[in-house]
Amino acid sequence: MTGTLASSGGNRPGTLAPPRPRRDGLGTLMLRPAVVSLLLSAVATAQAPAAQNQGPGYTDTPVMPNGWRVHDAARPRPRVVDPGPAPSQPVPAPADAVVLFDGRNLDAFTGRDGKAQWALVEGAMESNRTGDLETKAHFGDCQVHLEWAAPAVVKGESQGRGNSGVFFFGRYEVQVLDSYDNPTYADGQAAALYGQTPPLVNACRKPGEWQTYDLVFRAPRFAADGALLEPARVTVLHNGILVHHDQPMLGATAHRALPGYRAHAAKGPIKLQDHGDPVRFRNFWVRELDLDRSADRAPAPASQPAEAPGK
Ligand code: MG
Repeated sequence: MTGTLASSGGNRPGTLAPPRPRRDGLGTLMLRPAVVSLLLSAVATAQAPAAQNQGPGYTDTPVMPNGWRVHDAARPRPRVVDPGPAPSQPVPAPADAVVLFDGRNLDAFTGRDGKAQWALVEGAMESNRTGDLETKAHFGDCQVHLEWAAPAVVKGESQGRGNSGVFFFGRYEVQVLDSYDNPTYADGQAAALYGQTPPLVNACRKPGEWQTYDLVFRAPRFAADGALLEPARVTVLHNGILVHHDQPMLGATAHRALPGYRAHAAKGPIKLQDHGDPVRFRNFWVRELDLDRSADRAPAPASQPAEAPGK
């Protein structure tokens, strides 16, 4: 069943209806400066919407409920924040983490035709056009840590430069991209919820430098009949900087199309994308979460004997 979060409706930003001119008691047309400004911007929007497009992206894709087109060329790109130097050592995995990759082997993954075939290079795994990887283990609500590095030798531009991705349930993507001085559409840059929501800021390090993702994912909830009860939600720290906080996802990741939900099991694999660029990953671990705190339910109150009347 398909959920209902996504719709094709919505108003585009910048398409304000022109305000009505105001007349004073003398019959003279008087316009406040703010009204003039609004009128001018409305005229500019009507005359030259394409002139707002500042870079890569699309002007012909569907409009999301948030008012932006999918991969909207006019959507503002997040400001850049220098996250500081890369960690010299991988972040240690906590004791209760499921370690998916520690530099030694790809045993935790499947790949095209069943076998994970990414290259093992200098303690990292590197995508090499042999297909996406998927974790053998399945996860629902979880905390993920992983480290990635875009190719040190810069090649390509926009979506063709250091592209990969982390897909919860194999379908909800947190984008991996070399977004260091590499303009692309806002909802496609590093740490974007691809095709939906840009990160709050661009915290990308230089190509070849190690970057961290710390992700908290709450899986979508579905009713028995497949109807969507709650969307997926994700919190993302990129290089230690908060770029999404409990952000609802609009559905499964799509390219040039509206995201939507289709019911699935309570747990699923995590996928790493092979987009054709040699992106490296290391130190990939997951902690399963009990976000519903099912282990912390108070016992039902004991029944109290009724008080004797007249006491
Ligand atoms: Mg990607």
